[in-house]
Amino acid sequence: MSPANTNLKETITTLLSQIGMSARAFQGTGLISCSPITGEAIGEVSSHTPTEMRAAIEKADLAFKGWRCVPAPKRGELIRLFGEELRQNKEALGQLVTIEAGKILQEGLGEVQEMIDICDFAVGLSRQLYGLTMASERPGHRMMETWHPLGVVGLITPFNFPVAVWAWNFALAIICGNATVWKPSEKTPLTALACQHLFDNAVAKFKDAPDGLSCLIQGGRDVTDVLVDHPRVALVSATGSTEMGRSVGQRVAKRFGKSLLELGGNNAMIVTPSADLTLAYRAITFSAVGTSGQRCTTLRRLFVHRSMKADVLTKLKQIYESLPIGNPLEEGTLCGPLIDGHSYTAFQNTVHKAQSEGGNLVAGGVRVLSDQYPNGYYVSPALLDMPDHTDSLFTETFAPILYVVSYDTLDEAIAMNNQVPQGLSSCVFTTDIREAEYFLSAQGSDCGIANVNIGPSGAEIGGAFGGEKETGGGRESGSDSWRNYMRRATNTVNYSSELPLAQGIKFDL
Ligand code: NAD
Repeated sequence: MSPANTNLKETITTLLSQIGMSARAFQGTGLISCSPITGEAIGEVSSHTPTEMRAAIEKADLAFKGWRCVPAPKRGELIRLFGEELRQNKEALGQLVTIEAGKILQEGLGEVQEMIDICDFAVGLSRQLYGLTMASERPGHRMMETWHPLGVVGLITPFNFPVAVWAWNFALAIICGNATVWKPSEKTPLTALACQHLFDNAVAKFKDAPDGLSCLIQGGRDVTDVLVDHPRVALVSATGSTEMGRSVGQRVAKRFGKSLLELGGNNAMIVTPSADLTLAYRAITFSAVGTSGQRCTTLRRLFVHRSMKADVLTKLKQIYESLPIGNPLEEGTLCGPLIDGHSYTAFQNTVHKAQSEGGNLVAGGVRVLSDQYPNGYYVSPALLDMPDHTDSLFTETFAPILYVVSYDTLDEAIAMNNQVPQGLSSCVFTTDIREAEYFLSAQGSDCGIANVNIGPSGAEIGGAFGGEKETGGGRESGSDSWRNYMRRATNTVNYSSELPLAQGIKFDL
């Protein structure tokens, strides 16, 4: 039987037992997990207390003291074993993500693939935690930098990427020699339990990893506050809304801790007259509608050259009216539910606000399938033809709403791209190399991600991921993001029998 036709609670039980977990693990009290597919409760896990959070931080701190002495390539071996666990359980974990977060199965599986990819990346990286050597101005001296683990790393993650965002941070933090304490979204506690279980399996195979290397603490603001404020937590990596980051960033800064913030996006695409429109339409659809508009990199603002806007809107209307919206477990569905009723209210309010600003609702914008799923919130993605870059376009509403605005010059389109407070992802569709390079240049997009002929969503793990301004400035995943999880020491060694001072200073006794 297809998973879409079975009772969700039973499916969850089957999936968790496939992963090797006992039913008791998800029969705690305090934190109820509901599936956005039907709105029904699918499990309950124990909610932890602030005292338990403090104990977890202390345990992780002890684990760190042992783990930092394990050579980095050996630490990589633990992550290699974890990657193996993920490979073996990809199908079950992917389905779990779909049921708990509501994204279509292909995207659930893709999210687990991202975890596997970052594990592979981290294994290689565990042999490449390089520092530089510098030329010293003094004879008989050598200068270099060394990178050391930070300590306890706190991880706060959102509902929309319940496993990948954790894995991006976790795999790198572990190979860098840290211990972690994870506080996942209250909306996705089961996937968090499953991840922790799979990591525990890897630890059992590895044999000599210290207890407490990865602590999972579930709960609400009271436990998160302890994590954010605790002086033993060297780095807080927090992914979620800008509102959350504003609070977490300030609190961590107050105690001079480090924070890595990955916050809201408000992403744009510019379609120029020379664009390959076949590519552009596919990219627009995937990035505006995929994950029901609940990606930080979702396309929200589309800037189309004035000469083409009417045609582009006609084509997009056609596409939007034929979108397969429905149960994300069913094959063929491209757009699943919103996470909950609050999200639906935000969707509705924003569509109305945009209309009050002169926006014309070209397609979608309403709740659908409410007879079939009275407690599930499915919407037809909204396509709005906007008269200008109005007030609504400055805010990220975490739902599928695409605003289309016309422009006359590329400079005007780039100015609108950069005008919003967020700075995560952006792209241009063009076949003109001058336009492409200009968009990527210092005068172009001000975002952390700027693409040519690729939509703003669906990044690979090899690049540094993150954005500027209210997106928080953090970089995770590939490139040299690993440095965020380590501290740099500058070392100068004098192997001569003199003691010359820097800058030629004379200070003789
Ligand atoms: P959210 O901010 O509501 O919650 C994210 C996490 O922060 C959860 O674990 C939550 O419990 C915790 N949290 C919330 N408020 C907090 C506070 N004041 N102090 C401490 N912890 C707090 O976000 P969400 O609804 O789960 O996720 C959607 C948001 O996340 C969107 O804004 C999206 O753009 C953003 N996001 C960003 C990225 C990125 O890499 N930039 C990736 C995924 C999601």
